[in-house]
Amino acid sequence: ATGLMHGKRGLVMGVANDHSIAWGIAKTLSDHGAELAFTYQGEALRKRVAPLAESVGSSLVLPCDVEDLASVDGVFAALQEKWGALDFVVHAIAFSDKSELKGRYADTSRENFSRTMLISCFSFTEIAKRAAAMMPKGGSLLTLTYGGSTRVMPNYNVMGVAKAALEAGVRYLAGDFGAEGIRVNAISAGPVRTLAGAGISDARLMFNYQRAHAPLRRTVTIEEIGGAAVYLLSDLSTGVTGEIHYVDSGYNIISMPRPEVLKA
Ligand code: NAD
Repeated sequence: ATGLMHGKRGLVMGVANDHSIAWGIAKTLSDHGAELAFTYQGEALRKRVAPLAESVGSSLVLPCDVEDLASVDGVFAALQEKWGALDFVVHAIAFSDKSELKGRYADTSRENFSRTMLISCFSFTEIAKRAAAMMPKGGSLLTLTYGGSTRVMPNYNVMGVAKAALEAGVRYLAGDFGAEGIRVNAISAGPVRTLAGAGISDARLMFNYQRAHAPLRRTVTIEEIGGAAVYLLSDLSTGVTGEIHYVDSGYNIISMPRPEVLKA
């Protein structure tokens, strides 16, 4: 606990349970002194999110399904009334039909392409615009991406295309809001065992592969992702915007497996 986030208020979107990356980020932000509000998707998840929120001293727990723009507006109206201003937002939301997170990208359907892009990419733009309107003194916006955006990962398919668009969105939003002192960045996390992660076919194989081949010889924890989030959301990173920051045990720098792994 450093107090780095002391006096800062922010919204965390995308907690489904205590394995969620958003939860690792929320806990770490809270440890460093942040005051938090949460959103949950659908009544069933409220029962999971409300007790987690309470455990970090938050009772601001709001429904939000990004497919329903009125519910997004509802969240920011509620925050406007409760807090009046906002210092940061964490967007940790993605979805694609499981049946298209396997096989070939070429077989993606038009319906699932649009839905994946709306939920996993454009929602960040709609949220950023509303959050920025509540940041008169500047702020920091953060989303979560994955290295399948720039390199072909088996089965990641349409989600890789959506993440590429999300990362481009981070840069354009950073351009749009920079003059207002609002920074926009993404963390590109290595594989984590979460609900969303389990939707990708053969997720366990990819998890084990990255563990074997990453320079650090392991995967990352949600608390380690939280540590990077504290940096990007606090005043430590006031000179940083439009950045895709990898928290992946270094996996993204590797060209091929080490000889001893190949020979094993
Ligand atoms: P998770 O299942 O815990 O979280 C995904 C969240 O997205 C859930 O809380 C879910 O409610 C929310 N969501 C889905 N559709 C929504 C909608 N229409 N409206 C509102 N919320 C919606 O899984 P996670 O792995 O913690 O995912 C969080 C983010 O991290 C995602 O953007 C994911 O792509 C990204 N990410 C995950 C990994 C990984 O290996 N798990 C790696 C890199 C990046």
